[in-house]
Amino acid sequence: MPGTIVMKFGGTSVADAERLRNAARRIVQKREQGQRVVAVLSARGKTTDELIAMAEEVSPAPAPRELDMLLSAGERISCALCAMAINDLGHRAISMTGSQAGIVTDTSHTKARILDVRADRIRSALEEDSIVLVAGFQGVSTARDVTTLGRGGSDTTAVAVAAALEAEVCEIYTDVAGVYSADPRIVPQARLLPVLSFEEMLEMAASGAGVLQLRSVEYARNHGVRIHCRSSFEDRPGTVVVSEIETMEHPLITAVTHSTGEARVTLLGVPDKPGVAARIFGALADADVNVDMIIQSEPAGEGSSAEVSFTVPRDDLRVSRQTLEGLAPELGISSIVTDEEMGKVSIVGAGMRSHPGVAAKVFTVLGDEEINIEMISTSPIKISCVIGGEHVPRAVRALHSAFELSGDGTEQPEEPFRPPGQ
Ligand code: ADP
Ligand code: ASP
Ligand code: MG
Repeated sequence: MPGTIVMKFGGTSVADAERLRNAARRIVQKREQGQRVVAVLSARGKTTDELIAMAEEVSPAPAPRELDMLLSAGERISCALCAMAINDLGHRAISMTGSQAGIVTDTSHTKARILDVRADRIRSALEEDSIVLVAGFQGVSTARDVTTLGRGGSDTTAVAVAAALEAEVCEIYTDVAGVYSADPRIVPQARLLPVLSFEEMLEMAASGAGVLQLRSVEYARNHGVRIHCRSSFEDRPGTVVVSEIETMEHPLITAVTHSTGEARVTLLGVPDKPGVAARIFGALADADVNVDMIIQSEPAGEGSSAEVSFTVPRDDLRVSRQTLEGLAPELGISSIVTDEEMGKVSIVGAGMRSHPGVAAKVFTVLGDEEINIEMISTSPIKISCVIGGEHVPRAVRALHSAFELSGDGTEQPEEPFRPPGQ
């Protein structure tokens, strides 16, 4: 619809009454400038974590369908409250659950994928001059159950709604001023990146830059949605994510990203014969586990057995273990060893494609810091190293400084980032 814009506010941006009213004011401001506005909200503050903790208090392995029913409540609270605040500002607002907004997903509870957005109800509300508030992070499955979209999923709701409405832009309002050359909570001198290509943003999100959920970036690229990630506390431009053709420069290295949520699984005594890897990773895929790096080695003198190590998100470790324990006797795997405290640092940059020596420099920097590299993986524009979780902040700072990502000062944010409330 012409003149439509989608604004998404994250959890910190609606954490208390004052911030929620602030979000309501920003939404109304856009409406008063003549735009039709759909706002997608996240659950307030730590609500989602608290709901997960509540579930775990009553059940060690909560049923995924019921977990989704519980978790979806957080976003509904935010939307209902924001609609009240907007009404008080003299505008008409209507809140909708994911299901009411027409977000249809597959049946994969707790990490469902959006299949379709049937946006007629949003459209008619906009035509009636209402501001529409859509509960992020949730949908209704093809089996008519409530689903959620994985942590950080409200970003994807916003992008999907923007695509369905052919909105001019999908604005992601968050607690930092945009996407930086490293997580500004770890590197206060990190540089705000005014423009990023989808390709770079995809690699950044995939390697831990949680400022945008990976799926939201994939969705935006596939549907041509323009993303503008910006501060909900200040009114200044943030980061625009655009297609390759629109980005002008390709710096060698754009950013250092990290994750501290990795776990490693090592399978010992894996029979070295065709089809075994397919069985292992097929079973993990069927269990919806996202496997990241994989290494297979044949310990010297072991003859016909190999060792297979791979990383998974720590949240998927329990399911991975269960799946593999079921498979081990049949395949003849002798033991399963897990390591919960792994982390990962990566450097991302479209310019590295044509520059040799970047990987060597990464390894030297980590070596100088006496940080042992456990696993390595590369793509044309990314180098990732799995390291002990405790070394991650030091590794990020060392790489950010070695690749001189703070910039020359001209592009620095006016002042170094400070977390809100400090
Ligand atoms: P929201 O609740 O608004 O969705 P998130 O916590 O999901 O916010 O994402 C914002 C956070 O992402 C920031 O507070 C920041 O710590 C983190 N982050 C990690 N990497 C980056 C990066 N490269 N640039 C900006 N923020 C980053
Ligand atoms: N509330 C959900 C989460 O904490 C979704 C989101 O914030 O995007 O992961
Ligand atoms: Mg988020």
